[in-house]
Amino acid sequence: MQITVKRAEQLKPHPPEDKLGFGINFTDHMLNLDYDTASGWHSPRIEPYAPIVMDPSTMVLHYGQAVFEGLKAYRTQGGEIQLFRARDNIARLNRSCRALCIPELDPDFLMTSLKELLRLEQAWVPGAPQTSLYIRPTVIATDNFLGVRASDTYRYFVILSPVGAYYAEGFNPIKIWVTRRHVRAVRGGLGEAKTPANYAASLYAGEDAHKHGYTQVLWLDGVEQKYVEEVGSMNIFFVIDDEILTPALNGSILPGITRDSVLQLARHWGLKAAERDITIDEVMQAHSDGKLQEVFGSGTAAVISPVGELKYDDQQITIGQGRVGPVAQRLFDAITAIQYGKGDDPLGWVEKIN
Ligand SMILES: *Cc1c(COP(=O)(O)O)cnc(C)c1O
Repeated sequence: MQITVKRAEQLKPHPPEDKLGFGINFTDHMLNLDYDTASGWHSPRIEPYAPIVMDPSTMVLHYGQAVFEGLKAYRTQGGEIQLFRARDNIARLNRSCRALCIPELDPDFLMTSLKELLRLEQAWVPGAPQTSLYIRPTVIATDNFLGVRASDTYRYFVILSPVGAYYAEGFNPIKIWVTRRHVRAVRGGLGEAKTPANYAASLYAGEDAHKHGYTQVLWLDGVEQKYVEEVGSMNIFFVIDDEILTPALNGSILPGITRDSVLQLARHWGLKAAERDITIDEVMQAHSDGKLQEVFGSGTAAVISPVGELKYDDQQITIGQGRVGPVAQRLFDAITAIQYGKGDDPLGWVEKIN
């Protein structure tokens, strides 16, 4: 498929690199691709970044048939631009599509078109330490119809946003709130798909946590509310008795690429790392036995997010004196070194765009 390119007549000023924030500024161009049953995915085009005009009956607005991804492009010290495990994001996008009855896209074409968009927008990849260009591929259902069924037409688009250093003032261990009042996802539902519905389902508990002074919610399983699942938009890790533990993927947990990177790197280093069912009681017990060494989240935005405090019912525990633990620090340093091309890439995760 030939990608047509229509350049923006006027380019936007770039915001200062120390004031980027997250997801606030968008670049000059976006990538669009359409689907209909007769032609399949067709008409790939890079166009000026612009609003998507929709009929009010557009299906995605009513029934939430949509999926998305989140990944980043990084500028190396030598000025090159590289992606981290982008093919894994593309594979996950297609798995999410399958879960929501959206026709899958050709992974090679997604990679080629993403690189082409990034080459055009390369001046937007910031160079200050720990900054990056966030990439948001999205698919939405576009039939104008109010009946409930899978749409016959779709739009795939990619937008780009320069984002600031997540830890501009150094690591800041977060406080998390374990909820039993709400659940995020259940086995057999949409938990393992990256879809807006999961975020809609998480808002109420998130607001509740904020009101009580906590940054994020730690979700328990949707059936027994006994097993730990994940945190907001991150997967969760525990270091108990020198073993790195994370909940096994059970159908309701989002299979994070950072999660997988943590497991692969830890094993590569010869550390003990396991995926299994973990109850919240086991975590609280490990803490009272003095064996809970570290808790941290993993995700593309923050890479590693140390947890300094955890609240469950009336129990409130402080982890590692509220400071960053050695495992979290080592993983953060190693993963960011790979992403920014500062360290070797022992597992072959990096791909340059040129
Ligand atoms: C995206 C996401 C994650 C983290 O996945 P990464 O691939 O590591 O960024 C974790 N949980 C949820 C619910 C997510 O949407």
